[in-house]
Amino acid sequence: MPKYVYGFTEGNKDLKDLLGGKGANLAEMTNIGLPVPPGFTITTEACRHYLRHGDMPGGLEEEAGEHLAALEARMGKRLGQADDPLLVSVRSGAKFSMPGMMETVLNIGLNDDSVLGLAKQSGNDRFAWDSYRRLIQMFGRTVLGVDGELFEDALDDLKGDRDDTDLGTAELQRLVETFKGIVRAQAGRDFPADPREQMDLAVRAVFESWNAPRAILYRRQERIPAGLGTAVNVVAMVFGNMGPDSGTGVAFTRDPGSGRRGVYGDYLRDAQGEDVVAGIRNTVPLQELETINPEAYQELLGIMATLERHYRDLCDIEFTIERGRLWMLQTRVGKRTAEAAFRIATQLVDEGLIDMDEAVTRVTGDQLAHLMFPRFSATGSSHRLTTGMNASPGAAAGRAVFSSERAVELAGRGEAVILVRRETNPDDLAGMIAAHGVLTSRGGKTSHAAVVARGMGTTCVCGAEELEVDPHARRFTAPGGVVVNEGDLISIDGSTGAVYLGEVPVTASPVARYFEGGPVEDELVRAVDRVMTHADAVRRLEVRANADTPEDAARARRFGALGVGLCRTEHMFLGERRRLVEDLILAPGGGKERQVALDALEPLQTADFAGIFEAMRGLPVTIRLIDPPLHEFLPDLTDLAVRVAVAGERAGERDRRLLEAVRRLHEQNPMLGLRGVRLGLAIPGLFAMQVRAIAAAARQVEGARAEIMIPLVGAVQELEIVREEAARILAEAGVEAAIGTMIEVPRAALTAGQIAGAAEFFSFGTNDLTQMTWGFSRDDVESAFFGRYLDLGVFGVSPFESIDRDGVGRLMRIAAEEGRRARPGLKLGICGEHGGDPDSVHFCHEIGLDYVSCSPFRVPVARLEAGRAAL
Ligand code: ADP
Ligand code: MG
Ligand code: MG
Repeated sequence: MPKYVYGFTEGNKDLKDLLGGKGANLAEMTNIGLPVPPGFTITTEACRHYLRHGDMPGGLEEEAGEHLAALEARMGKRLGQADDPLLVSVRSGAKFSMPGMMETVLNIGLNDDSVLGLAKQSGNDRFAWDSYRRLIQMFGRTVLGVDGELFEDALDDLKGDRDDTDLGTAELQRLVETFKGIVRAQAGRDFPADPREQMDLAVRAVFESWNAPRAILYRRQERIPAGLGTAVNVVAMVFGNMGPDSGTGVAFTRDPGSGRRGVYGDYLRDAQGEDVVAGIRNTVPLQELETINPEAYQELLGIMATLERHYRDLCDIEFTIERGRLWMLQTRVGKRTAEAAFRIATQLVDEGLIDMDEAVTRVTGDQLAHLMFPRFSATGSSHRLTTGMNASPGAAAGRAVFSSERAVELAGRGEAVILVRRETNPDDLAGMIAAHGVLTSRGGKTSHAAVVARGMGTTCVCGAEELEVDPHARRFTAPGGVVVNEGDLISIDGSTGAVYLGEVPVTASPVARYFEGGPVEDELVRAVDRVMTHADAVRRLEVRANADTPEDAARARRFGALGVGLCRTEHMFLGERRRLVEDLILAPGGGKERQVALDALEPLQTADFAGIFEAMRGLPVTIRLIDPPLHEFLPDLTDLAVRVAVAGERAGERDRRLLEAVRRLHEQNPMLGLRGVRLGLAIPGLFAMQVRAIAAAARQVEGARAEIMIPLVGAVQELEIVREEAARILAEAGVEAAIGTMIEVPRAALTAGQIAGAAEFFSFGTNDLTQMTWGFSRDDVESAFFGRYLDLGVFGVSPFESIDRDGVGRLMRIAAEEGRRARPGLKLGICGEHGGDPDSVHFCHEIGLDYVSCSPFRVPVARLEAGRAAL
């Protein structure tokens, strides 16, 4: 039987899979000698068993009992002991942090008897009854499923205008009775008095909270696998609510927004942990602890320094001070903004804690992409309503909405929205995901809104206290009496905290300017520059860009692309050239008329290619011969049919013939129809014209390095026919160019060994390969049922976003291996959308591709991820 329970002295920080992040780090802190209240962790494995079978694994209760007994022996009191009770918290904690998504219950072990014992032992009646009412409240809500608002309303009624700390013992005793009544009425049972029953029920509730709707939604958003489960930590209680010399707080070892060193945190006197995050009372900046309790403050700073050295990274912590004594309740490597990630990584290098290799692994392509987002420009003339805290950077403009539901609704209609709340809670998650930005009037940098928005990369301004938010009336009032109603445009700046009325125009970020060839103008850009330089030095994968125009090619080159991996030629047949394409199709029986159209197209194509060769002088340019079905270049069937019908007798001969051609070429499944190499073989002369144009352009431009790519090949025979003719044209022109193929039809991947005989390179067209491997059309299915599939866990992320390693990826592996076996030195690349997706870049590295090609704007991201993949 597996071991299901670990004491804090038995675990360590590397056991996150089994103990969850919280449990692993509590163990780590215990082991390095920090003051952590004793406790134990029930593993994620037990949770997975529970979720699968609906019951605890055999032996778990006994094993937990043994650990509880050891804890009781150590503390010299039993759980819930009437005259001197041991109390514990039962806390969720998964491998990946899911802030506030799952449940925790504090003060377990209190009942009508032990509350008296606690009062007597502590000499503090008020504290004991306050703890008891908190237990019933939390237990009722999370374990017994009672609507939490009922408790809050009862508390509010009693408090009136006062703070909760103003409630006296007698009032708290009354509140306990009220709370018990609520439990009885709502849950249909009494609040359980038996301490062990309380603990066991709480453990189950934590396990079950893994599948709470908000937890599921959060995991989907953060791409956390659904099957991991959560661990449960049982921790001896320490009390921050024992009076003014007690309190609780959260802190970061550096500023998670900028990476600057200093003291960043919030502290709340006479309170339990939940109160800080919930924003019940206003916290004070952590610096004030220096006056409140200098010794504890110094100790805390010392511990934070120890943690940074130990984890060699920014950490965030939760702590509690019980009558002057400091206790650590949680730490983890902290979430941070994209900007801070780059700054901190290089700062840590300068401080000698990590090397450049590690610095590159500490930042992600997504973070880099985020830094390239535009920012507000010319805010000078804008009407600034107020300034809150800069909780998560970026510039966001949109319509103000005041509820999660409205945010989802308006965003669904394609509107940009800013979600405005007093403070957010986990139920706002759907709205936060839908919104361009989040604005709150309460809560600091550690509030729910701030933490979640940073994690999602959503722009957020929090704690804009001057705003009076009225969610019921759907409006807020700013200083000076300005009223912003639902639907009004506002703009928020997550980097400065500014809130503006109206839509403020945006400008390029300094990081984007840097990639455009601009200067290394500040510390952030300098950090990005250092990381990118190192990533380029260590990566094995080359990065190219998908570019169809000289402008795109030039931009891609500035962004560091080492060539064009995919130049599509389709758009070169649109606009005024449509008529030539129509002629090509209408030519009766081909022959002379067709040649006339092709001859007219050839110089135009030559000029197209010459422009791109010039922009990429000295670097390879892979040109894909025309791919989509011909009917895409013809008028729409219905439009044309109507036009011809309306014209009746007067309809022109050309229109009649066009209509006939459109009908003839109409396909039920164009994606699987006459396109790519099939088209090239069906319309003699079309591919040849393109190859002649490529050759002519290559002769015109010195340093041109053309590669010719044949799309949609499924059989080597197709490729051989095209190749033979192309090779002859190139030879006649005296131009050297590699001829290769896309691998995008599953049959091509499966016969890659044969195909490699006729191809000098393969480029994986993973958009089509994904469509054809799964058998679903990207244009149709994504909106139709992918949401449902993601919910059901059929896949964790859309296969059009990240390469499906098991299926599509397997075909790629086969093609790469068999292709290289048949032709050593075969060049391998990818040119699908996936070329700019971080996870897919790593996969391409793993299977030994030579390059990835992605859109110009993603080139820096791919460079960075290619570097990370190599480390
Ligand atoms: P979350 O993951 O939502 O932060 P936690 O398990 O960390 O939930 O607990 C919620 C709050 O209760 C935190 O502020 C934490 O510090 C506090 N807390 C948890 N266990 C204890 C304990 N044994 N003694 C005192 N406070 C605790
Ligand atoms: Mg916590
Ligand atoms: Mg394709």
